[in-house]
Amino acid sequence: STSERFKEFDKSKVYMVDLESGLHYLLRVELATHKTLEGVELKLFKDFVTVVAKLFPGRQSVVKLLETLLEWLISLPLEKIPYEAILDLTNNKMRISGLHLSERVQWLGCQGSSVALRGYPCSLWTLFHVLTVQAASRTDALANTALEDDPQAVLQTMRQYIGTFFGCRECGKHFEEMAQESMSQVKSLDEAVLWLWRKHNQVNARLAGSMSEDPMFPKTQWPTPDLCPTCHEEQDGLHVWNEDMVLAFLKKHYSAENILPKHTS
Ligand code: FAD
Repeated sequence: STSERFKEFDKSKVYMVDLESGLHYLLRVELATHKTLEGVELKLFKDFVTVVAKLFPGRQSVVKLLETLLEWLISLPLEKIPYEAILDLTNNKMRISGLHLSERVQWLGCQGSSVALRGYPCSLWTLFHVLTVQAASRTDALANTALEDDPQAVLQTMRQYIGTFFGCRECGKHFEEMAQESMSQVKSLDEAVLWLWRKHNQVNARLAGSMSEDPMFPKTQWPTPDLCPTCHEEQDGLHVWNEDMVLAFLKKHYSAENILPKHTS
């Protein structure tokens, strides 16, 4: 509602409540529109859970839930999984101790000036930036999984998730076009971090001034000079990015150390 107070936050930080609210929405709301998972959908859901279980730098109760979900998906001989079973696990129906994913949706870094703006899509971008940075800094994290040694593992998983499950079909179409154009050129984990940054800026440029722009959070080419002065340079009077600096900034901004576990009430 409009009377709800805007919560102050720091744009140079990433917030765990946004990431957890996003995971809650993804697992309990977005996925619920698919009554059963089978075939390619089941495979990509397994890949998605693999990536988040192995790379999400979250609270132990959430990581343990994701790991349990992954073990269960891997051990299951079924070719078809009813969504209800995934929901039961997400809600920890079996009451395994130490597992929990809050059902509260609370946006902080992703709060919008109205309920229709920002929120979930913002948290998805944030989640995937965090995951590409984790993959690049913990290079053995995906060892012994189907995604081992693939520098595009996180990006391909994001591509498939966005194309299949993301509620905004138009977004999925746009993202797929960008992926087809250049994702295959990504040859290292660092390049994956930069690819996602570049494409996100491309989306920002396209959406500037559109309906999905929150007037309180205008679409910019990010990081802005106040966040990272050394990311910006001028060549022959034109703006250019210093990509070494951008990479270093992204690895710091989306690192586990920069995610605030702060909970506001
Ligand atoms: P977001 O763009 O969601 O960004 C979230 C946060 O990430 C920002 O606040 C900032 O801190 C940081 N950030 C910004 N730019 C970058 C960058 N380049 N690199 C790293 N971090 C950055 N909406 C449409 O209307 N049409 C579309 O086609 C469309 N396609 C989308 C495709 C994908 C894959 C996703 C996840 C979303 C898409 N959306 C689309 C939604 C749109 O991109 C925004 O998520 C939404 O409008 C909310 O914007 P926001 O202001 O919260 O910032």
